[in-house]
Amino acid sequence: MALTGIEIFKLLPKTNCKECGVPTCLAFAMNLAAGKAELSACPYVSEEAKAQLQEASAPPIRPITIGVGDNALKVGGETVLFRHEKRFENPTGVAILIKDSMDDSEVDARLGRFKQFQYERVGLFLRPELVAVKDESGDAAKFEALVNKITQNSDAGIILMSENPDILAAGLKACADKKPLLYAATKDNLDKVAGLAKENSCPVAAKGSNLDEVADLTNKLTEAGLNDIVIDSGSRTVRQAFEDQVIIRNSALVKKFKPLGFPTIVITAEMTDDPMKEAVIASMLVAKYAGIVVLSDFQGESLFPLLVERMNIYTDPQRPLATTEGIYEIGDPGENSPVLITTNFSLTYFIVSGEIEGSKIPSYLLVMDTEGLSVMTAWAAGKFVSDAIGPFVKKSGIEDKVKHRKIVIPGYAAAESGGLEEELPGWEVLVGPREGANIQAYLKTWKP
Ligand code: SF4
Repeated sequence: MALTGIEIFKLLPKTNCKECGVPTCLAFAMNLAAGKAELSACPYVSEEAKAQLQEASAPPIRPITIGVGDNALKVGGETVLFRHEKRFENPTGVAILIKDSMDDSEVDARLGRFKQFQYERVGLFLRPELVAVKDESGDAAKFEALVNKITQNSDAGIILMSENPDILAAGLKACADKKPLLYAATKDNLDKVAGLAKENSCPVAAKGSNLDEVADLTNKLTEAGLNDIVIDSGSRTVRQAFEDQVIIRNSALVKKFKPLGFPTIVITAEMTDDPMKEAVIASMLVAKYAGIVVLSDFQGESLFPLLVERMNIYTDPQRPLATTEGIYEIGDPGENSPVLITTNFSLTYFIVSGEIEGSKIPSYLLVMDTEGLSVMTAWAAGKFVSDAIGPFVKKSGIEDKVKHRKIVIPGYAAAESGGLEEELPGWEVLVGPREGANIQAYLKTWKP
């Protein structure tokens, strides 16, 4: 049973020191009970209290890690039903399916697509993380050789897919050190697969034909000492898969039903033969609430939007994506190069820097911290106004980099030009375009 806020409060130091970011220990206790705070935010909890608070502070969906090192993938750890309540924590893992019945050229092509489809967007790196290696041949040596080839030729996290424990054991010979996900323990192979997971300290998937069967399997796995579990409800129709995802999340978070308190895996590859339909199904499951989706293959035109959707859903809705404040040099600028200024909303930065780059006129771009707000919003909120911009420009160090004293402000902040000239004596403040699309033409008129 989870502890109530008052029960948690009794275990806290009650000094109201505020170091956890809220004014009182009681407020912190209430946040902890609601899953809106991490116990680690209070540095003064005793070890004894910590042990008692573990249950209360543990997320209702257990966080599970697949793989090791920099490429380890964490899934689960969710604490809310809806993104606007707090945020979703660990993005859905995306896997490509490779079967041991495929010929070498097909395997190579899929590994190639796994490596090729990686993108940078608004300063974030978007990529798939997993390869699901499926046994279809029933040949342990063949399966092991394929797993070996994949681990040698990619940095992917691995899902070993077979219901035959001997085949899983063969796959483990090639990648146990990478802590793959063993898919799957079923009612027919539970003891042997649980044994493999325990022996190799690997996470294991519990696959049932319905949620009751899954709950029974996870109970047995936890009784066997395994807690790193991913669940597959077994549904392969869109409606049932969607319903199961919602029921699992709701049962774990609202009803505190521990046997379903694990991240899920959905094999969209087994739900349709139509790649576009599969992409749409995967998109729905990324939104609600799959921990991992296993796609039959990757196509750039469907994978990229899926990764962007995932990025949008798993960013913090209360914190706009922001770029670090500072001077950005675009195209090797010199002492006569233009100086422009904008805010640190990531999208604004990437549009403005992209347009400057497109102009082929080397420039300095000053990016000012406005808590991630766009130019118009930051200006309206009083964060991108002359008495804030002036001190930032002075301390930025730009005066040491250029001989001239001209600065271009965004057209949306034109009202600040007079005030900014007062804040920056000796500087001429030029009003640039309102829209990023007009920056290239504007810069062509630049004279130091
Ligand atoms: S940091 Fe700990 S002791 Fe300080 S107010 Fe927060 S909960 Fe209380």
